[in-house]
Amino acid sequence: MTVKEQIKLKPGGIIDQAYQFSERMHRGQKRKSGDPYFNHALAAANNIADWNLDEQTIVAALLHDTVEDTEVTLQDIKNKFGEEVAFLVDGVTKISKIKYRGTLSQVENLRKMLLALSEDIRVILIKLADRLHNMQTLKHVSPQKQKRIALETMEIYSPIAYRLGMQQLAGELEDLAFPFIYPKEFEWLNKEIKDEFTKRTKYLERVHKTLLKELGGNNLRPVFIDFRAKRYASLYKKLLRYDMDISKIYDLVALRVVMKDISECYSALGIVHKLWPPMPGRIKDYIAMPKPNGYKSLHTTVICLDGIVTEIQIRTKEMHEESENGIAAHWNYEQSKGGKAYTEGKASFANKKEMQWVEQLRNWQKEFTNSDEFIDSFKIDFLRDRIFVISPKGEVFDLPVGATPVDFAYQIHSDIGNACSGARINGKIVPLDHQLQSGNVVEILTQKNKKPSSSWLNFVKTSSAKDKIKSALKDSTSLIHIAPKETQFKIVATDRVGLIKDITVIISRAHINIISVNSQANAPSSQFHAIKIICEHTSKDQAEKLAMKIKKLKGVKELNFKFT
Ligand code: MN
Repeated sequence: MTVKEQIKLKPGGIIDQAYQFSERMHRGQKRKSGDPYFNHALAAANNIADWNLDEQTIVAALLHDTVEDTEVTLQDIKNKFGEEVAFLVDGVTKISKIKYRGTLSQVENLRKMLLALSEDIRVILIKLADRLHNMQTLKHVSPQKQKRIALETMEIYSPIAYRLGMQQLAGELEDLAFPFIYPKEFEWLNKEIKDEFTKRTKYLERVHKTLLKELGGNNLRPVFIDFRAKRYASLYKKLLRYDMDISKIYDLVALRVVMKDISECYSALGIVHKLWPPMPGRIKDYIAMPKPNGYKSLHTTVICLDGIVTEIQIRTKEMHEESENGIAAHWNYEQSKGGKAYTEGKASFANKKEMQWVEQLRNWQKEFTNSDEFIDSFKIDFLRDRIFVISPKGEVFDLPVGATPVDFAYQIHSDIGNACSGARINGKIVPLDHQLQSGNVVEILTQKNKKPSSSWLNFVKTSSAKDKIKSALKDSTSLIHIAPKETQFKIVATDRVGLIKDITVIISRAHINIISVNSQANAPSSQFHAIKIICEHTSKDQAEKLAMKIKKLKGVKELNFKFT
């Protein structure tokens, strides 16, 4: 049901209010395409409605750009639409600030960071709904932005959709991104494949008839059979593995057979194999062994009519819907089973333990934390002990909660940690013991010859930073023993009472520690004395200033200094 249809059902309801509010706030704003900006908010909300998500999420989707792009504040949203909607809008605003800067080595961390920042799966779903519409209208933005958004979609958002089991969306996002990232390849593929598609679709219509007849003869009636053309982006990836030879791609167009239940699926598989011999090693039972993202189906590749190799997929209707819409299909299913209404106040997610995507997130969590805790809600809390921060170059670093800029500096490199003298977060200077938050862009300021301070040990969170600080401190103390650095003043002066005191006062007023003072007559009856003062190491500047002051003292004839 579209947003407008929902409003018709409940005029004046919360969706209606959000619609009016968003339309009013975005009034006058235009998209690059020339469309009113509000159309984008509505398109995102329609995607959310398509996936059968709850009212709160539809409302949040309608409002998702108001805080970022209009005068509306988060507090306004809270007052008007409640805490939960405000939380969702805030989440989308936050994650929209994370930009993919093209460091491929870090994409997995970036995906996790987005999930961690989202805190609630619905935030990610709104972001995906938003991204889908942005991709559908990508041709209107500048080429540079096209490339960045397309890459981000391909590397970050499509894989997240896939992990959530939303294959349909994941594939669509990839296909929308493909021409912007690989324009030449897309053109080639388009030309190359067109005739082949038509040919194979016509062929499959014949296969369809034969199969339907044979199934009917065995009292099996499929819910439906359709053809699925392989998506461009995944076809291209596959072609790369098959020497760009299209004749080797058996699932360019696949036949999809949807049966009533699991046992009928296996019966249908038997019939298919009776009709056409299967290719050895090409029968895949994803019902018994679902894919990690929850995908279930039977796949077989057979030597079909006219000896043409063809892929056939067999599944139940439920599996079919799940594979298209993943988590959203589950939601729908729960609702129709008479689970709690998600539209009333706080959503309840109690009954979701068996859900596939939860399993799959859980696996993700395991590979990530070793924690065995069960995720039993929409809250993305398996990442709650971790934060993800970004370097100015766009690399994402994964740190424990409570980590400071010093932990971050040591994570980059121990030399950076040792030389760390300050930090900027999102451009602002912060103290070194400042606690980092997910999504922070952290820049470390360094100073040459800087040594770590033992006080850092009081606040660093990671043991690797602790170890590195300790070992750096050890190195620097042993250095002092081997080559102590001192400043030594040699003064020739006529002896007088109080001269030594006058000299030492000048030095200690400059807050420099005196290590030793030595004075002796040049010769037994000489009126000249040689005074040697050794103090802690000073800069050349400092030594020169001290020398000038000492030279002015009564009786001082000559002075020089050196560093030892
Ligand atoms: Mn948007």
